[in-house]
Amino acid sequence: MMIRNHYTPELEAFRDSFRTFLDREVAPHRARFRAQGMIDREIYRKAGEQGFLCYWVPEEYGGLGLADYRYDQIMQEEVAEILESGMWMGALNRNSPPYILKHGSEEQKRHYLPKLASGEMICAIAMTEPDAGSDIAGFKTRAEPRGDGSWVLNGSKTYISYGIIAELFVVAAKTNPGNPRELGLFLVERGMKGFRNGRKLEKLGFHTQDTAELFFEDVVLEPIHVIGDASQGFTYMRGGLAEERLTTSGQSLPWSWKAIALAQEFVTQRKAFGATVADFQNTKFKLAEMRAEALACQAFLDHCVDLFNAGELDQATAAALKLKTTEVQGRIMDECLQLHGSAGYMQEYPICQLYQDARIFRIFAGTSEVMKIVIAKDMLGR
Ligand SMILES: Cc1cc2nc3c(=O)[nH]c(=O)nc-3n(C[C@H](O)[C@H](O)[C@H](O)COP(=O)(O)OP(=O)(O)OC[C@H]3O[C@@H](n4cnc5c(N)ncnc54)[C@H](O)[C@@H]3O)c2cc1C
Repeated sequence: MMIRNHYTPELEAFRDSFRTFLDREVAPHRARFRAQGMIDREIYRKAGEQGFLCYWVPEEYGGLGLADYRYDQIMQEEVAEILESGMWMGALNRNSPPYILKHGSEEQKRHYLPKLASGEMICAIAMTEPDAGSDIAGFKTRAEPRGDGSWVLNGSKTYISYGIIAELFVVAAKTNPGNPRELGLFLVERGMKGFRNGRKLEKLGFHTQDTAELFFEDVVLEPIHVIGDASQGFTYMRGGLAEERLTTSGQSLPWSWKAIALAQEFVTQRKAFGATVADFQNTKFKLAEMRAEALACQAFLDHCVDLFNAGELDQATAAALKLKTTEVQGRIMDECLQLHGSAGYMQEYPICQLYQDARIFRIFAGTSEVMKIVIAKDMLGR
Protein backbone atom coordinates (compact mmCIF):
# COMPACT_ATOMS: atom_id res chain seq x y z
CA MET A 1 0.00 0.00 0.00
CA MET A 2 1.09 3.59 -0.64
CA ILE A 3 2.98 5.13 2.26
CA ARG A 4 0.98 8.13 3.41
CA ASN A 5 3.04 10.74 5.25
CA HIS A 6 0.02 12.91 5.85
CA TYR A 7 -0.44 12.79 9.61
CA THR A 8 1.83 13.72 12.51
CA PRO A 9 2.01 11.73 15.78
CA GLU A 10 -0.07 14.50 17.37
CA LEU A 11 -2.81 13.99 14.78
CA GLU A 12 -2.68 10.23 15.31
CA ALA A 13 -3.13 10.80 19.05
CA PHE A 14 -6.19 12.89 18.19
CA ARG A 15 -7.44 9.95 16.10
CA ASP A 16 -7.16 7.68 19.14
CA SER A 17 -9.22 10.01 21.30
CA PHE A 18 -11.91 10.43 18.62
CA ARG A 19 -12.03 6.65 18.08
CA THR A 20 -12.47 6.13 21.82
CA PHE A 21 -15.31 8.66 21.77
CA LEU A 22 -17.05 6.85 18.88
CA ASP A 23 -16.57 3.43 20.49
CA ARG A 24 -18.01 4.62 23.78
CA GLU A 25 -20.73 7.09 22.83
CA VAL A 26 -21.86 6.15 19.33
CA ALA A 27 -21.14 2.58 18.20
CA PRO A 28 -23.10 0.80 20.97
CA HIS A 29 -26.25 2.81 20.16
CA ARG A 30 -26.28 2.55 16.37
CA ALA A 31 -29.30 0.24 16.15
CA ARG A 32 -31.34 2.59 18.33
CA PHE A 33 -30.28 5.64 16.30
CA ARG A 34 -31.36 3.88 13.15
CA ALA A 35 -34.71 2.90 14.64
CA GLN A 36 -35.44 6.44 15.82
CA GLY A 37 -34.23 7.95 12.52
CA MET A 38 -31.57 10.19 14.02
CA ILE A 39 -28.72 10.36 16.46
CA ASP A 40 -29.38 11.70 19.96
CA ARG A 41 -28.80 15.45 20.06
CA GLU A 42 -26.84 14.83 23.26
CA ILE A 43 -24.04 13.08 21.32
CA TYR A 44 -23.11 16.34 19.60
CA ARG A 45 -23.02 18.15 22.93
CA LYS A 46 -20.59 15.53 24.23
CA ALA A 47 -18.54 15.87 21.02
CA GLY A 48 -18.36 19.61 21.65
CA GLU A 49 -17.27 19.11 25.26
CA GLN A 50 -14.35 17.00 24.01
CA GLY A 51 -13.22 19.50 21.39
CA PHE A 52 -14.44 17.69 18.27
CA LEU A 53 -16.78 20.46 17.13
CA CYS A 54 -15.50 23.61 15.41
CA TYR A 55 -12.04 23.03 16.90
CA TRP A 56 -10.76 25.59 14.36
CA VAL A 57 -12.57 28.44 16.15
CA PRO A 58 -9.90 30.75 17.64
CA GLU A 59 -9.43 30.43 21.40
CA GLU A 60 -10.72 33.95 22.00
CA TYR A 61 -14.11 32.74 20.65
CA GLY A 62 -14.19 29.54 22.67
CA GLY A 63 -12.52 27.08 20.29
CA LEU A 64 -9.18 25.29 20.32
CA GLY A 65 -7.67 27.45 17.57
CA LEU A 66 -6.48 24.40 15.58
CA ALA A 67 -6.58 25.69 12.02
CA ASP A 68 -5.70 22.40 10.36
CA TYR A 69 -8.24 20.60 8.19
CA ARG A 70 -6.57 17.24 8.87
CA TYR A 71 -8.42 17.03 12.19
CA ASP A 72 -11.65 16.85 10.21
CA GLN A 73 -10.11 14.41 7.77
CA ILE A 74 -9.21 12.07 10.63
CA MET A 75 -12.73 12.28 12.06
CA GLN A 76 -14.17 11.47 8.63
CA GLU A 77 -11.92 8.41 8.36
CA GLU A 78 -12.94 7.18 11.80
CA VAL A 79 -16.65 7.70 11.20
CA ALA A 80 -16.35 5.50 8.09
CA GLU A 81 -14.90 2.74 10.26
CA ILE A 82 -18.05 2.50 12.36
CA LEU A 83 -20.37 3.12 9.37
CA GLU A 84 -22.28 5.91 11.07
CA SER A 85 -23.50 8.48 8.55
CA GLY A 86 -25.24 10.53 11.24
CA MET A 87 -21.89 11.47 12.77
CA TRP A 88 -20.87 13.65 9.87
CA MET A 89 -18.50 15.90 11.80
CA GLY A 90 -17.18 17.51 8.63
CA ALA A 91 -20.62 18.81 7.71
CA LEU A 92 -21.21 20.15 11.22
CA ASN A 93 -17.80 21.76 11.37
CA ARG A 94 -17.34 23.01 7.84
CA ASN A 95 -20.56 23.65 5.93
CA SER A 96 -21.92 26.66 7.79
CA PRO A 97 -20.00 27.85 10.92
CA PRO A 98 -17.01 29.19 8.89
CA TYR A 99 -19.29 31.85 7.35
CA ILE A 100 -19.54 33.44 10.81
CA LEU A 101 -15.78 33.45 11.40
CA LYS A 102 -14.92 34.65 7.89
CA HIS A 103 -17.62 37.25 7.31
CA GLY A 104 -19.38 37.83 10.63
CA SER A 105 -19.14 40.85 12.92
CA GLU A 106 -17.20 40.81 16.18
CA GLU A 107 -20.53 40.66 18.04
CA GLN A 108 -21.65 37.61 16.02
CA LYS A 109 -18.36 35.81 16.60
CA ARG A 110 -18.52 36.40 20.35
CA HIS A 111 -22.17 35.38 20.55
CA TYR A 112 -22.32 32.32 18.28
CA LEU A 113 -18.88 30.73 17.93
CA PRO A 114 -18.47 29.63 21.58
CA LYS A 115 -21.90 27.98 21.41
CA LEU A 116 -20.98 26.14 18.20
CA ALA A 117 -17.64 24.97 19.58
CA SER A 118 -19.21 23.69 22.80
CA GLY A 119 -22.07 21.87 21.05
CA GLU A 120 -24.65 24.06 22.78
CA MET A 121 -25.79 25.01 19.28
CA ILE A 122 -25.61 23.09 16.00
CA CYS A 123 -25.59 25.14 12.83
CA ALA A 124 -27.03 24.02 9.47
CA ILE A 125 -26.69 25.50 6.01
CA ALA A 126 -29.97 26.35 4.26
CA MET A 127 -29.57 27.07 0.56
CA THR A 128 -31.68 24.60 -1.43
CA GLU A 129 -35.33 25.44 -2.10
CA PRO A 130 -38.22 23.38 -3.43
CA ASP A 131 -37.89 25.06 -6.85
CA ALA A 132 -34.15 25.73 -7.00
CA GLY A 133 -31.07 23.79 -5.97
CA SER A 134 -28.27 23.97 -8.55
CA ASP A 135 -29.62 27.27 -9.87
CA ILE A 136 -28.91 29.71 -7.07
CA ALA A 137 -30.34 32.58 -9.12
CA GLY A 138 -33.69 30.77 -8.95
CA PHE A 139 -34.02 31.13 -5.16
CA LYS A 140 -37.33 32.63 -4.05
CA THR A 141 -36.62 33.15 -0.34
CA ARG A 142 -36.21 36.87 0.13
CA ALA A 143 -35.11 39.27 2.84
CA GLU A 144 -36.33 42.84 2.78
CA PRO A 145 -34.75 45.69 4.73
CA ARG A 146 -37.06 47.50 7.17
CA GLY A 147 -35.01 50.69 7.16
CA ASP A 148 -33.78 50.46 10.75
CA GLY A 149 -31.02 47.86 10.19
CA SER A 150 -33.40 44.94 10.65
CA TRP A 151 -34.74 42.65 7.89
CA VAL A 152 -37.81 40.52 7.34
CA LEU A 153 -37.39 37.02 5.89
CA ASN A 154 -39.96 35.04 3.87
CA GLY A 155 -39.68 31.77 1.98
CA SER A 156 -38.79 28.12 2.43
CA LYS A 157 -35.87 25.72 2.18
CA THR A 158 -35.75 21.96 1.73
CA TYR A 159 -33.44 18.93 2.05
CA ILE A 160 -31.63 20.68 4.91
CA SER A 161 -29.20 18.40 6.78
CA TYR A 162 -29.69 18.60 10.56
CA GLY A 163 -32.85 20.62 9.81
CA ILE A 164 -34.67 19.05 12.77
CA ILE A 165 -32.03 19.22 15.47
CA ALA A 166 -30.03 22.33 14.53
CA GLU A 167 -30.62 25.43 16.62
CA LEU A 168 -29.05 27.84 14.14
CA PHE A 169 -29.32 28.16 10.35
CA VAL A 170 -27.27 30.11 7.83
CA VAL A 171 -29.99 31.00 5.33
CA ALA A 172 -29.35 32.32 1.82
CA ALA A 173 -31.97 34.83 0.65
CA LYS A 174 -32.40 37.27 -2.18
CA THR A 175 -31.95 40.87 -1.10
CA ASN A 176 -32.53 42.77 -4.36
CA PRO A 177 -35.68 42.02 -6.39
CA GLY A 178 -34.00 43.63 -9.41
CA ASN A 179 -30.93 41.38 -9.34
CA PRO A 180 -31.37 37.60 -8.92
CA ARG A 181 -27.67 37.14 -8.13
CA GLU A 182 -27.74 39.52 -5.18
CA LEU A 183 -28.03 37.40 -2.06
CA GLY A 184 -27.51 37.82 1.65
CA LEU A 185 -26.65 35.24 4.29
CA PHE A 186 -28.74 35.45 7.45
CA LEU A 187 -28.67 33.69 10.80
CA VAL A 188 -32.00 32.26 11.88
CA GLU A 189 -32.39 30.77 15.34
CA ARG A 190 -34.82 28.03 16.23
CA GLY A 191 -37.63 29.56 18.25
CA MET A 192 -37.76 32.84 16.31
CA LYS A 193 -41.30 33.97 15.59
CA GLY A 194 -42.33 32.92 12.08
CA PHE A 195 -39.78 30.10 11.74
CA ARG A 196 -41.00 26.54 11.67
CA ASN A 197 -39.89 23.10 10.53
CA GLY A 198 -41.76 21.13 7.93
CA ARG A 199 -41.47 17.38 7.57
CA LYS A 200 -38.53 15.23 8.55
CA LEU A 201 -37.87 13.75 5.11
CA GLU A 202 -37.65 9.99 4.44
CA LYS A 203 -34.51 9.19 2.44
CA LEU A 204 -32.77 6.38 0.53
CA GLY A 205 -29.82 6.50 2.94
CA PHE A 206 -28.32 8.63 5.72
CA HIS A 207 -31.00 7.19 7.97
CA THR A 208 -29.50 8.50 11.20
CA GLN A 209 -29.10 12.06 9.98
CA ASP A 210 -32.20 14.22 9.93
CA THR A 211 -33.06 16.11 6.75
CA ALA A 212 -35.92 18.58 6.77
CA GLU A 213 -37.94 21.40 5.30
CA LEU A 214 -37.80 24.90 6.81
CA PHE A 215 -40.37 27.67 6.52
CA PHE A 216 -39.94 31.39 7.19
CA GLU A 217 -42.94 33.68 7.50
CA ASP A 218 -42.18 37.31 8.30
CA VAL A 219 -39.20 36.34 10.46
CA VAL A 220 -37.69 39.55 11.82
CA LEU A 221 -33.89 39.56 11.72
CA GLU A 222 -31.93 42.07 13.76
CA PRO A 223 -28.47 43.35 12.69
CA ILE A 224 -26.80 40.50 14.67
CA HIS A 225 -28.50 38.07 12.29
CA VAL A 226 -27.03 39.56 9.09
CA ILE A 227 -23.71 38.05 8.02
CA GLY A 228 -21.41 40.70 6.55
CA ASP A 229 -22.72 42.65 3.56
CA ALA A 230 -26.24 41.50 2.66
CA SER A 231 -25.50 41.93 -1.04
CA GLN A 232 -22.38 39.73 -1.04
CA GLY A 233 -23.83 36.33 -0.13
CA PHE A 234 -23.05 34.91 -3.56
CA THR A 235 -19.35 35.77 -3.20
CA TYR A 236 -19.29 34.40 0.36
CA MET A 237 -20.93 31.17 -0.81
CA ARG A 238 -18.35 30.69 -3.56
CA GLY A 239 -15.59 30.44 -0.94
CA GLY A 240 -17.76 28.40 1.41
CA LEU A 241 -18.75 25.90 -1.25
CA ALA A 242 -15.11 25.04 -1.99
CA GLU A 243 -14.77 24.08 1.70
CA GLU A 244 -18.06 22.16 1.63
CA ARG A 245 -16.90 20.23 -1.47
CA LEU A 246 -13.58 19.36 0.15
CA THR A 247 -15.59 18.07 3.10
CA THR A 248 -17.87 16.00 0.87
CA SER A 249 -14.82 14.39 -0.73
CA GLY A 250 -13.21 13.98 2.68
CA GLN A 251 -16.17 11.85 3.77
CA SER A 252 -16.76 10.01 0.50
CA LEU A 253 -13.28 8.53 0.10
CA PRO A 254 -13.04 6.82 3.53
CA TRP A 255 -16.39 5.21 2.71
CA SER A 256 -14.91 3.90 -0.54
CA TRP A 257 -11.99 2.41 1.39
CA LYS A 258 -14.41 0.84 3.84
CA ALA A 259 -16.43 -0.70 1.00
CA ILE A 260 -13.28 -2.17 -0.54
CA ALA A 261 -12.27 -3.65 2.82
CA LEU A 262 -15.73 -5.19 3.27
CA ALA A 263 -15.66 -6.69 -0.23
CA GLN A 264 -12.14 -8.02 0.30
CA GLU A 265 -13.24 -9.76 3.49
CA PHE A 266 -16.40 -11.16 1.94
CA VAL A 267 -14.79 -12.63 -1.20
CA THR A 268 -12.14 -14.47 0.76
CA GLN A 269 -14.86 -16.33 2.69
CA ARG A 270 -17.59 -16.85 0.11
CA LYS A 271 -17.33 -20.11 -1.83
CA ALA A 272 -18.51 -20.79 -5.39
CA PHE A 273 -17.61 -23.39 -8.01
CA GLY A 274 -15.23 -25.16 -5.62
CA ALA A 275 -13.15 -22.05 -4.90
CA THR A 276 -13.57 -18.80 -3.05
CA VAL A 277 -14.88 -15.76 -4.93
CA ALA A 278 -11.45 -14.25 -4.29
CA ASP A 279 -9.90 -16.91 -6.53
CA PHE A 280 -11.65 -15.69 -9.68
CA GLN A 281 -9.56 -13.44 -11.86
CA ASN A 282 -12.51 -11.08 -12.28
CA THR A 283 -12.59 -10.51 -8.52
CA LYS A 284 -8.86 -9.84 -8.35
CA PHE A 285 -9.02 -7.39 -11.25
CA LYS A 286 -12.01 -5.56 -9.75
CA LEU A 287 -10.31 -5.20 -6.37
CA ALA A 288 -7.07 -4.08 -7.99
CA GLU A 289 -8.87 -1.48 -10.12
CA MET A 290 -10.73 -0.16 -7.09
CA ARG A 291 -7.59 0.14 -5.02
CA ALA A 292 -5.80 1.96 -7.85
CA GLU A 293 -8.68 4.42 -8.22
CA ALA A 294 -8.97 5.00 -4.47
CA LEU A 295 -5.22 5.57 -4.15
CA ALA A 296 -5.29 8.19 -6.89
CA CYS A 297 -8.21 9.91 -5.16
CA GLN A 298 -6.38 9.74 -1.83
CA ALA A 299 -3.35 11.53 -3.26
CA PHE A 300 -5.62 14.19 -4.80
CA LEU A 301 -7.59 14.61 -1.56
CA ASP A 302 -4.50 14.90 0.65
CA HIS A 303 -3.07 17.45 -1.79
CA CYS A 304 -6.28 19.50 -1.66
CA VAL A 305 -6.25 19.37 2.15
CA ASP A 306 -2.72 20.81 2.06
CA LEU A 307 -3.89 23.50 -0.38
CA PHE A 308 -6.84 24.33 1.88
CA ASN A 309 -4.58 24.58 4.93
CA ALA A 310 -2.40 27.00 2.97
CA GLY A 311 -5.47 29.05 1.96
CA GLU A 312 -4.98 28.08 -1.68
CA LEU A 313 -7.83 25.70 -2.54
CA ASP A 314 -9.71 27.33 -5.41
CA GLN A 315 -13.28 26.64 -6.56
CA ALA A 316 -12.38 24.71 -9.71
CA THR A 317 -9.90 22.40 -7.97
CA ALA A 318 -12.41 21.70 -5.18
CA ALA A 319 -15.02 20.93 -7.85
CA ALA A 320 -12.62 18.57 -9.66
CA LEU A 321 -11.90 16.81 -6.36
CA LYS A 322 -15.58 16.40 -5.57
CA LEU A 323 -16.37 15.19 -9.08
CA LYS A 324 -13.57 12.64 -9.09
CA THR A 325 -13.88 11.24 -5.57
CA THR A 326 -17.65 10.92 -5.61
CA GLU A 327 -17.88 9.42 -9.11
CA VAL A 328 -15.20 6.90 -8.09
CA GLN A 329 -17.14 6.27 -4.89
CA GLY A 330 -20.27 5.48 -6.90
CA ARG A 331 -18.43 2.92 -9.03
CA ILE A 332 -16.73 1.37 -6.00
CA MET A 333 -19.98 0.99 -4.07
CA ASP A 334 -21.60 -0.70 -7.03
CA GLU A 335 -18.71 -3.09 -7.67
CA CYS A 336 -18.35 -3.96 -3.97
CA LEU A 337 -22.04 -4.72 -3.66
CA GLN A 338 -21.83 -6.85 -6.82
CA LEU A 339 -18.99 -8.88 -5.30
CA HIS A 340 -21.27 -9.65 -2.34
CA GLY A 341 -23.96 -11.14 -4.59
CA SER A 342 -27.44 -11.03 -3.06
CA ALA A 343 -25.96 -10.70 0.43
CA GLY A 344 -24.98 -7.17 -0.59
CA TYR A 345 -28.62 -6.33 -1.14
CA MET A 346 -29.51 -7.29 2.44
CA GLN A 347 -29.66 -4.65 5.13
CA GLU A 348 -27.81 -6.92 7.54
CA TYR A 349 -24.64 -6.61 5.43
CA PRO A 350 -22.86 -3.27 5.94
CA ILE A 351 -22.15 -2.86 2.22
CA CYS A 352 -25.90 -2.45 1.71
CA GLN A 353 -26.02 0.57 4.00
CA LEU A 354 -22.86 2.06 2.49
CA TYR A 355 -24.32 1.71 -1.00
CA GLN A 356 -27.48 3.53 0.08
CA ASP A 357 -25.68 6.26 2.01
CA ALA A 358 -23.17 6.90 -0.76
CA ARG A 359 -25.66 7.66 -3.52
CA ILE A 360 -26.20 11.24 -2.38
CA PHE A 361 -22.53 12.23 -2.66
CA ARG A 362 -22.84 12.84 -6.40
CA ILE A 363 -25.79 15.15 -5.76
CA PHE A 364 -25.41 17.26 -2.63
CA ALA A 365 -22.93 20.12 -2.25
CA GLY A 366 -23.44 20.53 -6.01
CA THR A 367 -24.18 17.73 -8.47
CA SER A 368 -21.53 16.12 -10.68
CA GLU A 369 -22.96 18.08 -13.61
CA VAL A 370 -22.58 21.36 -11.70
CA MET A 371 -18.98 20.39 -10.82
CA LYS A 372 -18.29 19.99 -14.55
CA ILE A 373 -19.78 23.43 -15.21
CA VAL A 374 -17.49 24.99 -12.55
CA ILE A 375 -14.40 23.24 -13.96
CA ALA A 376 -15.22 24.08 -17.58
CA LYS A 377 -15.85 27.73 -16.67
CA ASP A 378 -12.37 27.88 -15.19
CA MET A 379 -10.97 26.39 -18.40
CA LEU A 380 -12.99 28.31 -20.97
CA GLY A 381 -14.33 31.34 -19.13
CA ARG A 382 -17.94 30.38 -19.96
C1 LIG B 1 -29.51 14.03 2.09
C2 LIG B 1 -29.42 15.42 1.55
C3 LIG B 1 -28.84 16.41 2.31
C4 LIG B 1 -28.79 17.72 1.83
N1 LIG B 1 -28.30 18.71 2.64
C5 LIG B 1 -28.44 20.01 2.26
C6 LIG B 1 -28.11 21.06 3.17
O1 LIG B 1 -27.71 20.83 4.31
N2 LIG B 1 -28.29 22.34 2.76
C7 LIG B 1 -28.75 22.64 1.50
O2 LIG B 1 -28.89 23.82 1.19
N3 LIG B 1 -29.08 21.65 0.62
C8 LIG B 1 -28.93 20.35 0.97
N4 LIG B 1 -29.26 19.34 0.10
C9 LIG B 1 -29.75 19.69 -1.23
C10 LIG B 1 -28.74 19.42 -2.36
O3 LIG B 1 -27.56 20.15 -2.16
C11 LIG B 1 -29.42 19.79 -3.69
O4 LIG B 1 -30.55 18.97 -3.82
C12 LIG B 1 -28.47 19.63 -4.86
O5 LIG B 1 -27.59 20.72 -4.91
C13 LIG B 1 -29.19 19.52 -6.22
O6 LIG B 1 -30.20 20.46 -6.35
P1 LIG B 1 -31.65 20.02 -6.87
O7 LIG B 1 -32.10 18.85 -6.08
O8 LIG B 1 -32.51 21.22 -6.89
O9 LIG B 1 -31.41 19.52 -8.34
P2 LIG B 1 -31.67 20.35 -9.67
O10 LIG B 1 -30.89 21.59 -9.65
O11 LIG B 1 -33.13 20.45 -9.90
O12 LIG B 1 -31.03 19.36 -10.75
C14 LIG B 1 -31.72 18.23 -11.29
C15 LIG B 1 -30.78 17.56 -12.30
O13 LIG B 1 -30.48 18.50 -13.34
C16 LIG B 1 -29.07 18.65 -13.44
N5 LIG B 1 -28.74 20.02 -13.81
C17 LIG B 1 -29.12 21.17 -13.19
N6 LIG B 1 -28.59 22.24 -13.81
C18 LIG B 1 -27.86 21.76 -14.85
C19 LIG B 1 -27.08 22.38 -15.88
N7 LIG B 1 -26.94 23.71 -15.96
N8 LIG B 1 -26.47 21.58 -16.80
C20 LIG B 1 -26.60 20.22 -16.72
N9 LIG B 1 -27.33 19.58 -15.78
C21 LIG B 1 -27.94 20.34 -14.85
C22 LIG B 1 -28.52 18.30 -12.08
O14 LIG B 1 -27.14 17.93 -12.16
C23 LIG B 1 -29.44 17.15 -11.69
O15 LIG B 1 -28.98 15.97 -12.27
C24 LIG B 1 -29.30 18.03 0.54
C25 LIG B 1 -29.88 17.00 -0.24
C26 LIG B 1 -29.96 15.72 0.27
C27 LIG B 1 -30.65 14.68 -0.56
